[in-house]
Amino acid sequence: MKDLILKMTASKWNYYLSLIADGMTGLVFLIFSFRTTDDIWASCALFIVGVASFTFVEYAAHAWLFHKNHFLKIFIEGHAHHHQNPFGYDAMPFFSSALIGFLLVGLLSYVMPQRDAFALIGGLAMGYFNYGLTHHLIHRREFKLPYYQYLQEFHFVHHKKPRKNHGMTADIFDRIFNTYYQWVEEDLEGLEKLKRIKKK
Ligand SMILES: [Zn+2]
Ligand SMILES: [Zn+2]
Repeated sequence: MKDLILKMTASKWNYYLSLIADGMTGLVFLIFSFRTTDDIWASCALFIVGVASFTFVEYAAHAWLFHKNHFLKIFIEGHAHHHQNPFGYDAMPFFSSALIGFLLVGLLSYVMPQRDAFALIGGLAMGYFNYGLTHHLIHRREFKLPYYQYLQEFHFVHHKKPRKNHGMTADIFDRIFNTYYQWVEEDLEGLEKLKRIKKK
């Protein structure tokens, strides 16, 4: 079973399907919220809170689930694939975001209106999509925007120093939890091989 899951989570079809499914989950949950609310702006605000909150989730999962030693070896091994092969297709099973999303909406519905839970969790799913897409592009594109150039170097340094710089779309939680590493020029030596740019 474990081998089957590891095989699936390293497959190309699961990788791209995951990206689509994560974005779709975010959008569909927001639409669910719109259909049952009379205050669309409240739904939009909660959705944005969800997207922003994902910066904490990406930090927590990467720092504490993928890089700390614990009994859930499947997460550590799955993520180790990415460190061995940065151009691999490692991703959670494609249905994870929808499945976990519905579970969280079900739980949150006990403490808030369901329309708000859909907006908030939809935002988290969209944050997850943003995380996946940013990571995909970081290994495959040159960026013009300085913020993305910064994130690219920030993440490449993580590949060299796996206990540092765990954020992907933001560095704030590395600064808060003291895992931020400010690189110098020589830290970036040899990191070009982490970037595979398609020839035009
Ligand atoms: Zn990476
Ligand atoms: Zn890592």
